[in-house]
Amino acid sequence: MSKTYLIVTEQRDGKLRRVSLEALRAALDCAEAGDEIHAALLGEGLDGLAAELAGYPLAQVHAIEGEELRHYNPEAYIGALAPLLEALRPAGLFLGHTALGRDLAPALAARLSAGQISDVTAIERDGGERDGGERDGGERDDGERDDGERHGGQIVFVRPLYAGKAIERKVFTAFPQVVTVRANNLPAAEPRRDGGTAIVAKRAAAPVADLRTVVREVVRRTAGKIDLTEARIVIAGGRGVKSAEGFRPLEELAGLLGGAVGASRGACDAGYCDYGLQIGQTGKVVTPEIYIACGISGAIQHLAGMSGSRVIVAINKDPEAPIFSIADFGIVGDLFEVVPLLTQAFRQA
Ligand code: FAD
Repeated sequence: MSKTYLIVTEQRDGKLRRVSLEALRAALDCAEAGDEIHAALLGEGLDGLAAELAGYPLAQVHAIEGEELRHYNPEAYIGALAPLLEALRPAGLFLGHTALGRDLAPALAARLSAGQISDVTAIERDGGERDGGERDGGERDDGERDDGERHGGQIVFVRPLYAGKAIERKVFTAFPQVVTVRANNLPAAEPRRDGGTAIVAKRAAAPVADLRTVVREVVRRTAGKIDLTEARIVIAGGRGVKSAEGFRPLEELAGLLGGAVGASRGACDAGYCDYGLQIGQTGKVVTPEIYIACGISGAIQHLAGMSGSRVIVAINKDPEAPIFSIADFGIVGDLFEVVPLLTQAFRQA
């Protein structure tokens, strides 16, 4: 019997978050021929975003508008999604493993009496790698993968445990299912190539009775900056940066490369930067394509947040620094000399 899957998408500053397209990729990988994938979009003034989403391989985009949905509020979001869940009775929900996804997914799983697998970094079927590694097969004209083995086989969700020290392979034994995907691990779904568009169903959110909390305002410290957890390039500074001012060359390089600045806890504890930039076991987990560690020794707690990066570059004046043991490229030198040289070289390139 064909199934319906629902992606709960996220936007930021009026832009669709890339992790939502990675969640769509996860759903495409789980779907069999004949299954339908729908997307939910919540907020205000969604026409542009709904039209953009409709260009992806989806059956329908459900744009749910409401003042209470302008900022994330679990009660309002669950209330807005409830009629859609009732109507679609999805076999699976897919969300980004973001702050919103981590909060909303278990609440939706409880509502649906669903099982949940969180923080997925790869999807395999019958033991064969499907995503997050070597890609097989091509894309169909509608943007869906065509790998010729959509039928049968058990879907295995891969997720790191204990700050990346172990890998868990999990399977669901029943429907419905709720899945959150870690940013920058699965490839983002591509728009349809055949020019087709999904149906956009726009509706006003039904008022939620007895809303117990209302979000009046959200003040983002990193407004307008690239989200650290989704950045393709991260330039991170450690205690070796020595001061808040010492982060300027890193910010300049990040700005030039379209990346984000991160930090070790050493740098945060020393007051050089905000804890919102902390990467590691007790900070954010990042998996960019390029991670440049500047003046970071490479403590195990820091590695827990960045060792999944595709290419790691370390700049440290101590040749014995542990960070070099996991770096793909190491530069032994003073970061205050090396970083401006890199910036200069990229500017000339
Ligand atoms: P240091 O270890 O002091 O390293 C500074 C480095 O800079 C040195 O290697 C030095 O050679 C180099 N350096 C100095 N000057 C220069 C220069 N001019 N040019 C180039 N290199 C230079 N840490 C995290 O990062 N994230 C976490 O989430 C985290 N969680 C933790 C949780 C727990 C429970 C505990 C106990 C610790 C945690 N830590 C975490 C702290 C961690 O153990 C380290 O103390 C911390 O990562 C060290 O930060 P650092 O590398 O910036 O500083």
